Amino acid sequence: MLGNFVFSNPTKLYFGEDSLNYLNEELPKYGKNVQLVYGGGSIKKNGIYDKVIDILKANGKAIFEDGGVMPNPTVEKLYEGVRIARDNQVDFILAVGGGSCCDYAKAVSISVNCEEDPWEKYYLKFEDVDMDTKIIPVGCVLTMVGTGSEMNGGAVITNHESKLKIGHVFGERVFPKFAVLNPAFTYSLPKYQMTAGFYDIMNHICEQYFSGEDDNTSDYLMEGLMRSLIYSSRIAVKDPENYEARSNIMWTATWALNTLVAMGKSTDWMVHMLGQAVGAHTDATHGMTLSAVSLPYYRHIMPYGLAKFKRFAECVWNIEPEGKSDREIAEEGLRAMEAWMSEIGVAMNIRELGVTEDMLENLVKSTLVMEGGYKVLTQEEILEIFKESLQ
Ligand code: NAP
Ligand code: FE
Repeated sequence: MLGNFVFSNPTKLYFGEDSLNYLNEELPKYGKNVQLVYGGGSIKKNGIYDKVIDILKANGKAIFEDGGVMPNPTVEKLYEGVRIARDNQVDFILAVGGGSCCDYAKAVSISVNCEEDPWEKYYLKFEDVDMDTKIIPVGCVLTMVGTGSEMNGGAVITNHESKLKIGHVFGERVFPKFAVLNPAFTYSLPKYQMTAGFYDIMNHICEQYFSGEDDNTSDYLMEGLMRSLIYSSRIAVKDPENYEARSNIMWTATWALNTLVAMGKSTDWMVHMLGQAVGAHTDATHGMTLSAVSLPYYRHIMPYGLAKFKRFAECVWNIEPEGKSDREIAEEGLRAMEAWMSEIGVAMNIRELGVTEDMLENLVKSTLVMEGGYKVLTQEEILEIFKESLQ
């Protein structure tokens, strides 16, 4: 049964090969001072930076550069971004990059006029943005596909000192005002990043699928999204410039985490909690931290949600059920997912991400426990899953 919900997603999307031109329609809506957020330089190499600068200048904007946003943006970088915004009385933040730039831009946008320490308020105390806090509007030009950050209120920040990587999903006011999605902008991604993004998408869907036992429209939608992702990812790893595959994957990523499929249903998010703990200790690529812990986690909880794992095997992986027990069908489904993961080349264990035995106890301490999945994990179970993920 669907629970009660209110659905609204205010982000306007411009999708396709000409979509960057729509910046000319969006930029006049905002003030003169633009904080241009980008990462470690990929946009300078692939030419996107020059195109964006030309459009900003043509629209008479004063540009305040805020580059160097690292993958898994840190709390120190957040403070720096807030300083840039305050010092220059920024009216608008334009993020050009992947989920890290989009998340960071959102985190800055809600922190500029926040009187408290944003890490304390939004991440440690997990408080919402006060209604009277002015939020700087954000727009995104997406260059890396996976997080869905272009159309949601999520903003993940990492604190290396306290070994915490925390995601806060904020409400509608924090969503980007618009996002530009040109699949061709993702062609220059290194294969490692591209496939990490594919697994991030898969896991966003799994986190929302593996929860609850009710009949729910969202589960059917998610099965379609997963089938599309599996199909297109196999094409994209062989032929990265296949527009059909890359455009379908880009759109799937947005649907996977723009809040739609979570409406009225329970969700899990435990793989993200385990993966974020790995990220806090290793700074490894987000999607790879998820792939490296997923199979031990899903094999662990499968007996508690057997019906859904069986359905996953049959509806997503086309496993034939005849003559097999429910458990065998479910296990075969997970083996099919494992084979797909190996085929696209994602990390299959946390050792390859830099985790060693002596780190496991601390990884457990950095893991937040979620309650929406088929089994609320104990500290011992979390340790067990990390141990299995080392192999
Ligand atoms: P990312 O950290 O934004 O980018 C990863 C790498 O890809 C960077 O080194 C970047 O280089 C490079 N890159 C990006 N676009 C490129 C392009 N077109 N060509 C060549 N290189 C390119 O990756 P992400 O996976 O999108 O974001 C990860 C962050 O998002 C993590 O902190 C994660 O926890 C968070 N996250 C957020 C949500 C959410 O709902 N908001 C969901 C899941 C994860 P440059 O730095 O040089 O540009
Ligand atoms: Fe994610």
